[in-house]
Amino acid sequence: MKELKDRIRRDGIIRAGNVLKVDSFLNHQMDIQLFEAIGQEFKRRFSYAEINKILTIEASGIGIACVVAQSFHVPVVFAKKTQTKNISGEVYTTKVESYTHGRIYDVIVSREFLGKGDKVLLIDDFLANGKALEGLTKLVKDSGAELVGAGIVIEKGFQIGGRMLREQGIRVESLAIVDSMDEATGEIVFRE
Ligand code: 5GP
Repeated sequence: MKELKDRIRRDGIIRAGNVLKVDSFLNHQMDIQLFEAIGQEFKRRFSYAEINKILTIEASGIGIACVVAQSFHVPVVFAKKTQTKNISGEVYTTKVESYTHGRIYDVIVSREFLGKGDKVLLIDDFLANGKALEGLTKLVKDSGAELVGAGIVIEKGFQIGGRMLREQGIRVESLAIVDSMDEATGEIVFRE
């Protein structure tokens, strides 16, 4: 998606540890006009599919998932990070290691909002090592819902997540795939 790649080139900041900061339009301040275009693009890429629910993970996935959900006219469910120990049987739960925070979270989704008969599109802002999406995939499986695919705004193609998920047969659509980025020069190379 050209508009997105241009914006990343213009406003993205490369940080140590292969972190791309896009706080000015995606992760802190949010450019809703751009989000709308992103929503339309995901709608186009998954137009063949029947989708009745969008699933994301808090916090940074929520804003983008809401706008994407508008183009599909379906609700959003976000997996919650929790520190509660004795998780009751009313939720599906899994563990997710956070790429940016280096911590492991328990994440939960209420059984009330995900289950058999649901056709789910996963949405997230970034795909790096695939831990967040792996966790969401497990929640979908445990619930008995059907996984339609995953829509990612920015995939870091030099990390393992994308390959790992595609090898599992999951349809992953990324709107910008970064093949390399150089902290010293600021150069970002995208996959065609
Ligand atoms: P993964 O679970 O695929 O390793 O990492 C994905 C999650 O980590 C995303 O939900 C995103 O919030 C965060 N993340 C991973 N890499 C980056 C990055 O380069 N920049 C930003 N801003 N977030 C990232």
